[in-house]
Amino acid sequence: VGNEIKPEKSVVDVGGVTFGGDRFAVIAGPCSVETREQILETARAVKRAGAGLLRGGAFKPRTSPYSFQGLAEEGLKLLMEAREETGLPIVTEVMNPRDIELVLNCADLLQIGARNMQNFPLLKEIGQTRKPVMLKRGMMATMEELLMSAEYIASEGNREIILCERGIRTFEKYTRNTFDVSAIPVLQSFTHLPVIADPSHGVGIRRFVPAMARAAVAAGADGLMIEVHTDPENAYSDGAQSMLPDEFETMMGELGAYVKLEGKHF
Ligand code: PEP
Ligand code: MN
Repeated sequence: VGNEIKPEKSVVDVGGVTFGGDRFAVIAGPCSVETREQILETARAVKRAGAGLLRGGAFKPRTSPYSFQGLAEEGLKLLMEAREETGLPIVTEVMNPRDIELVLNCADLLQIGARNMQNFPLLKEIGQTRKPVMLKRGMMATMEELLMSAEYIASEGNREIILCERGIRTFEKYTRNTFDVSAIPVLQSFTHLPVIADPSHGVGIRRFVPAMARAAVAAGADGLMIEVHTDPENAYSDGAQSMLPDEFETMMGELGAYVKLEGKHF
């Protein structure tokens, strides 16, 4: 994945939305798929606001085994229904090699979460598919470790990889994670893969997401992933960092000028 073997930037196409070219791609949606109404309503709202892809977790990596674990296959079906209606390609996480086949049927972009960044058997299996994959940086992983994990996927033959900075764990407690903006230009200097940012998990607090999104654009990100929920107070996961559809729409409007300044467009 190093740019010494491929100096030109790779463009990853996900159902017609491209990462790594002139286009700035925005993935938006809830942390978890919860109900039919929730995912459909959110899908319509993020599409209206200009998002290019819909996210939603059906398999959730939760700290506590007693927390909501995701709707699994039922969640995937709801995502497919949302794609059918809106045309938005789907981004969803796969945690277990056992579920790859199931998730492949639904996902246009497979998410490998921070906690699984070094799940090498999972990386190798996904490397044997030809499905685009978004690899999130582990919360305690160096940039080199992230690049090496991408190498696990690429070395099996799958070159459709997007890297995602999502914040790292530090001593700071006012924010959920420390959003490592520096990782964006530094990773871009080492790899030909597209690099996107997830300021929602990065900062973990709704009202700071727009500032971190602007920072990511200015740092040279190829796209963003933003959590949006129609009722964040009652969300099953990550409500505190999830934006209301109206807030997301406002942020998208404001981001346009920054994206343009970087020579890109939505
Ligand atoms: C998520 O995208 O909802 C998620 C669980 O992210 P991460 O793996 O970065 O914590
Ligand atoms: Mn989340």
